[in-house]
Amino acid sequence: METIYALSSAAGRAGVAVIRVSGPASADAVRVLTGEGPGRPREAVLRTLRDPRDASILDRALILWFEGPASFTGEDVAEFHVHGGRAVVDGVLVALGRLPALRIATAGEFTRRAFENGKLDLTEVEGLADLIEAETAAQRVQALRQMEGALGHIYEGWRGRLMRVLAHAEAEIDFPEEEIPGDLTRKLGPEITRLADEIRNHLDDGRRGERLRDGVEVAIIGPPNVGKSSLLNRLARREAAIVSDEAGTTRDVLEVRLDLGGVPVTLADTAGLRDAVNAVEQEGVRRALARAEGADLRIVVAALRPDGGLEGDFSLAREGDLRVLNKADLGPSNLPGAILVSAATGEGLDWLEEALTQLVGEKAGIAETPAITRGRHREGLLACLGGLERALGALREERAIELVAEDLRLAARSLGRITGRVDVEDLLDIVFRDFCIGK
Ligand code: GDP
Ligand code: ZN
Repeated sequence: METIYALSSAAGRAGVAVIRVSGPASADAVRVLTGEGPGRPREAVLRTLRDPRDASILDRALILWFEGPASFTGEDVAEFHVHGGRAVVDGVLVALGRLPALRIATAGEFTRRAFENGKLDLTEVEGLADLIEAETAAQRVQALRQMEGALGHIYEGWRGRLMRVLAHAEAEIDFPEEEIPGDLTRKLGPEITRLADEIRNHLDDGRRGERLRDGVEVAIIGPPNVGKSSLLNRLARREAAIVSDEAGTTRDVLEVRLDLGGVPVTLADTAGLRDAVNAVEQEGVRRALARAEGADLRIVVAALRPDGGLEGDFSLAREGDLRVLNKADLGPSNLPGAILVSAATGEGLDWLEEALTQLVGEKAGIAETPAITRGRHREGLLACLGGLERALGALREERAIELVAEDLRLAARSLGRITGRVDVEDLLDIVFRDFCIGK
């Protein structure tokens, strides 16, 4: 096994930078830079780092030593906590690079070794990636939970039970007993049915976990000039969209990212929906409609006119969408089912934000039980469920036990692929694609 090294903290000037080394030559790396071997495992020691070529001082640094397998990667690991200046970091990296046994790590390689050494399963690897990406508190909670194995344990638990059912079926193949019709169904059926029910329940999560991970998409739609961009600015509490008197200013889709009660929300301001006069506007309207169509929910905006009439309507609103009547400052009005606001004065915006936060919270967030966070999990679970249902069908029809066993085997394999406990060579590049160097 090669020994790898990389800067694991963010690039750029910082108080402290962490350079990580993993593999059998890690202790040598410490020896070459400090003149002594690593200290006791998990005890930080302060040492002077020197360039082995000319003994010039590189830094005074803390060194943390982890003896494999009790380390993140499962191998011997040395961490150099150096001062985070460019010259220090570069100096140490160059010195490490000169050691023949060391090479720079590829993206995600530390974590990949942790996976290959059984330290993390694939769902835990994904949880770690999500934790590094987490923008909101709820995302952090979900990522930590997954990194600690909450999802992986559920899937491994199901797989364990499935393997026992499978063992039972296989015993039946090897040592067939006198079969009373329906006997096998009575033996294997209930547990397969229970497993299928539990998996179906888990799948029926309203995609809360996936939406929490990816963010909830909200589109603001309505005719030009009703104040869509002004509302987005108010909600974003900053000037993110262009506001102007001229109809058709917001030609393309503009978006801001908000944190509403811990749920990340992508709020998209769309072009005004109207009879477009030119091709560019037409394209804008087309994109606005497509965006609104694909969004998790819509804020449909109409506005009061100075003459007391109404600009726009709520015909595009679907069940669960927000209806907003803007420009309430222009006169008295009362429209049942609509939230009255004024982007100009700020009136009613608390209500709007509260209603939006509530709706978004219904679509995404932390549930009591850990939720699916990726399409990859969902596909694996559906494949597993398919196998279980086929096995149940085969049992009911009194088909050959070999066929039942084959379906159970496929179901178990689909679960195993989610955690990476069965051969997943083809999956690894996909899972580790999102990692960068040093992770
Ligand atoms: P959009 O085309 O729907 O995005 O509308 P804009 O946000 O660009 O606003 C169009 C015009 O309406 C601008 O002149 C805004 O200043 C004005 N406007 C927006 N909100 C309000 C409001 O609540 N009251 C009044 N009186 N004018 C508003
Ligand atoms: Zn606009």
